[in-house]
Amino acid sequence: MRLGALEAGGTKMVCAIGNENGEILERVSIPTETPEITMPKLIAYFLDKEIEALGIGCFGPIDLNRNSDTYGYITTTPKLAWLNYDIVGAFKAALKVPVGFDTDVNGSALGEATWGITKGLENSMYITIGTGVGAGIISNGKLLHGMLHPEGGHLLLSRHPKDSFEGACPYHKNCLEGMAAGPAIEARWGMKGAQLADRKEVWELEAYYIAQALVDYIMILSPQRIILGGGVMHQEHLIPLVREEVTRQLGGYIKTKELEDMEHYIVLPSLNDNQGIMGALKLAVDEYQLEKIG
Ligand code: ADP
Ligand code: ZN
Repeated sequence: MRLGALEAGGTKMVCAIGNENGEILERVSIPTETPEITMPKLIAYFLDKEIEALGIGCFGPIDLNRNSDTYGYITTTPKLAWLNYDIVGAFKAALKVPVGFDTDVNGSALGEATWGITKGLENSMYITIGTGVGAGIISNGKLLHGMLHPEGGHLLLSRHPKDSFEGACPYHKNCLEGMAAGPAIEARWGMKGAQLADRKEVWELEAYYIAQALVDYIMILSPQRIILGGGVMHQEHLIPLVREEVTRQLGGYIKTKELEDMEHYIVLPSLNDNQGIMGALKLAVDEYQLEKIG
């Protein structure tokens, strides 16, 4: 099968052609401007590629409720040009193929669960810690949706007693994104994360906040493995600190073989930064099967 995949991000749109085995045959990257400028370029890319379905992993918030009048829309996004934009409708009208649609981070979770490090697990999570924080959840073998989609990046956290930073989230201040995303690190320490590599206290505090969120995810979702991706996780010494801190904060309450083997429980992505676009291929396959086969 020839399939289209789109990783729709706030700064760039990665378009690819691939197949149902997750193989990527070609790809391009197009800057994200307004829908008027960007959509014709995206449509032109896919139009003559003879794809049988398209999958989109999209920045949000987006409407994933198939019973809603605005299913397939980008909804209340701060990227105002795309506010209330019917992205699925626009592609369906132009390409006349099934269009699978989910959040960008659900796409990454799905890519890893289909072809990567969480393959074969019924319950897993993919958390990206970058400019923002997002969490994609696979529960009982399916992406978790709900009334909207989970917003696991905005879990409220307790401030560390020695941290006077107020928090950078405009909605909650001290949520995970507000305390631990790249811009929060920069606002707290006055420098970008990449320049703070040798400051131990920076990464201990970072691990403290990430671990709090992970403990809450573990308690409520019972994932069998958790993947941590995004730019901030490029700090190689961070993941061992997160593992230690999760063990400490769990306080020995849950005893499983997975938690005894933290190195294989909290892990980095495994698909060379292709997890998002490969996940979009899987969204295309699944939508094709749903629409054409039932
Ligand atoms: P985005 O979230 O915009 O898709 P990234 O996942 O690359 O992109 O995240 C970008 C954020 O990650 C920035 O805030 C940046 O400062 C931070 N970042 C990137 N590389 C590093 C690094 N090596 N160490 C710490 N922080 C980093
Ligand atoms: Zn928040």
